Amino acid sequence: MLDIGQIPTPCYVCEEEKLERNLKILDRVQKESGAKILLALKGFAMWSTFDLVGKYLYGTSASGLHEAMLGRETMNKEVHTYSPAFKEEEIAQIALISDHLVFNSPQQVRRFLRRAKNANPAVSCGIRVNPEISSAPVDLYNPCGIYSRLGTTIENFDPSVLKYLDGMHFHALCEQNVDALEEVLKAFEEKFGNYIPQMEWINFGGGHHITRKDYDVDRLIEVVRGFKERYEDITVYLEPGEAVGWQTGPLVGSVLDIVHNGMDIAILDVSAEAHMPDTLAMPYRAEVRGAAKAGEKPYTYRLGGNTCLAGDIMGDYSFDRPLKIGDKIVFEDQIHYTMVKSTTFNGVQHPSIAIWTKEERLEIVKKFGYEDFKNRLS
Ligand SMILES: *Cc1c(COP(=O)(O)O)cnc(C)c1O
Repeated sequence: MLDIGQIPTPCYVCEEEKLERNLKILDRVQKESGAKILLALKGFAMWSTFDLVGKYLYGTSASGLHEAMLGRETMNKEVHTYSPAFKEEEIAQIALISDHLVFNSPQQVRRFLRRAKNANPAVSCGIRVNPEISSAPVDLYNPCGIYSRLGTTIENFDPSVLKYLDGMHFHALCEQNVDALEEVLKAFEEKFGNYIPQMEWINFGGGHHITRKDYDVDRLIEVVRGFKERYEDITVYLEPGEAVGWQTGPLVGSVLDIVHNGMDIAILDVSAEAHMPDTLAMPYRAEVRGAAKAGEKPYTYRLGGNTCLAGDIMGDYSFDRPLKIGDKIVFEDQIHYTMVKSTTFNGVQHPSIAIWTKEERLEIVKKFGYEDFKNRLS
C-alpha cells in the first residue's frame, strides 16, 4: 500500500500495481475480442511507465508531431497519428515515424497523402469520420457536438479519397460505457457501412471507460467480435487514454497555511488551476482521502491553491480532525489528464512525478524547478 508519509509534496504518484491491473483488463479485451489497443497519449503520457504499458498494449496514439515522437522514442511500438490538421512542414517527419496516419478531412488527404507516402511508403492511411451521434456528458468533451471540427460528416464526405486509404477512424465517446459505443457504432455503420468492406482497419477511438468498475467488459468483447464477424475479420483498434491511467494514483499536497474569512480555508502547495485543471474545466470534484462533503464531518475547510487566482479552489471538504500546517492532503485519481495538462502558472512549484513500485518503493522520476518555469517563457 502506498505510504503517504514517504511522499515529498507536491507530487503525482503513479502506483505501478494499479496501472498493471488496468493493463491486464485491457489485455483481456485484446485477447478475447481481437481488438488492438493503443494508449492515447493525450490522456496519459507518463513515459517512465511505458516499458510496462508496452508489455501489454500495441502502441501509442498521437495527435501530432510531438506526441508521435514521444510514442516512437519511449514505447517504440505502433505509432498512430491523427491531427485535426497536419501542417506542410511536419507531414513528412510525422509519416516517417508513424505506422498509421489519420486525416481529418478529404482535403487533408488530397493535400498530404502523396507527401506522406513518399516519406514512408509503408504508412497506412485513414480518415476520421464524424458519426454525428454522441452522448458525451459535457460539450467541452463532445467530439460529435454541433459544429464539431473533428472528423468528416457524411454530408462532407468524399468517397473518392477512399481508394488511397486503408482505414476509417471515429472518436465519439468520453468516459462512457459500452452501450454508448453500441449507439455510435450503429450510426457509423448506417452512415459509412458501404465503405467498410474496402477497409483494412477501423479505429473506434477513445473514451471507452473500460477499466472502470461498472464497465461491461464482456459486452465490449462481444461488440468487437460481432463487428469483426460482419466485416470479415477487419482489424479493430481502440485507443483509450483515461482508461489506462484511471485510478492509478493520487496527487499529494500539504497544508501551507490556514486562514479564516467566513469559513476555514486551507492553502495548499498544489493548485487546482495549474495541477488538476479538469477539476475547474469539466468541472468535477476530486475525491480527497479521508474527507467528506462540507458539513458531513466536524471540521470543514475550503481547499485552495497557492496561486493568486481567486478561483484556484478545489472545493469544500470536511475532516474528522482539524487540519494543521504540514498535514498531507491526498487528491485521489490524479494521474490521467493532469500531468499532460499542467502548467507552471504563477510560478508555483510543479509537482514531482513519482512511481510507487510493485516492490513498495518510491521512485521520484522527475522533479521540477525554477528552470522549468523560466524555460517556458522568454
Ligand atoms: C482524446 C482522444 C482519445 C482518448 O480519449 P480518452 O477519453 O482519454 O479515452 C482517443 N482518440 C482521440 C482521437 C482523442 O481525441
